[in-house]
Amino acid sequence: MKISNLTRLNAIIGYPLTHSQSPSLHQTAYQRLGLNAVMLPIATTQINSVPAAIKTLPIHLTAVTMPFKQIIMPLLDVLEPAARQVGAVNTVVNKHGKLYGYNTDVFGIQYALRECELKGKNVLLLGAGGAAAAVAYVVSRQKARLMYVNRTPGKAAALQKKFGGRVVKTKQLKSKDIDMIINATPIGMVPKTNGMPVDSRLIAKRQTVFDLVYNPLQTRLLKFAELRGAKTVFGLEMFVAQGLRQIEIWTGRKIISLRLIKLLIKRLA
Ligand code: NAP
Repeated sequence: MKISNLTRLNAIIGYPLTHSQSPSLHQTAYQRLGLNAVMLPIATTQINSVPAAIKTLPIHLTAVTMPFKQIIMPLLDVLEPAARQVGAVNTVVNKHGKLYGYNTDVFGIQYALRECELKGKNVLLLGAGGAAAAVAYVVSRQKARLMYVNRTPGKAAALQKKFGGRVVKTKQLKSKDIDMIINATPIGMVPKTNGMPVDSRLIAKRQTVFDLVYNPLQTRLLKFAELRGAKTVFGLEMFVAQGLRQIEIWTGRKIISLRLIKLLIKRLA
């Protein structure tokens, strides 16, 4: 893409930004869609200065990542209801100097699970951070029964209070108690790819296993699930879908298609 006077500036903010694939995802999508824009990674710890920077430069679309997804919320002008309920913002759109906060992880999760029946199913959710809250929001709205497990039990209890279900101990569970396992911890992510977020005895053929970790594409958890014959859902699919949804919200254009999602998965894998 050639930079001109009409090139729009977008950004991703977080700290550190070493593992983010958002700039590659956005840049590839802009090229395919003929959008004259660039996404710059801005690694900063000065979150309080970010809204003024967005308005001044201006930055049109800002992807927000760790550790700012929660603390940016009170700094914005308007929050969409889903972001408010999840308690996290991963997207800020600058509309004529007013900053709107969204959570497109919600869309990414819905997209990744689009072929899974969730109603009445027992879902074991591993982790209780921002991504887990987005999963709990989606899954509880589809009337699944949530079981939470987290290193810090108090955070699992906070999700349970908000989205229903129960906090469990994996020791007390059997694989037959679980229809779906969703990993929303970073366990298994590069460089510690040997990590396994759940005891493998709990994985069974009749289950669906969804790992939000997308680097590597096939985590140890997903390899295990495949070996057992379970259905697997890749975190990269969610990642691509949430990124394209950011572009849809920014441009107001319908751009998401299976073809574009497949192409981006191929480029990023
Ligand atoms: P977060 O807010 O920091 O939460 C991390 C969660 O994982 C916390 O519940 C934490 O437990 C738990 N955890 C972290 N390290 C652990 C360890 N060594 N052992 C046990 N539990 C551990 O992070 P997040 O934003 O929710 O992201 C979680 C994961 O989802 C990351 O790997 C991220 O890359 C991935 N993600 C993927 C997508 C996608 O599009 N595919 C989108 C968002 C996030 P404590 O509560 O005890 O600290």
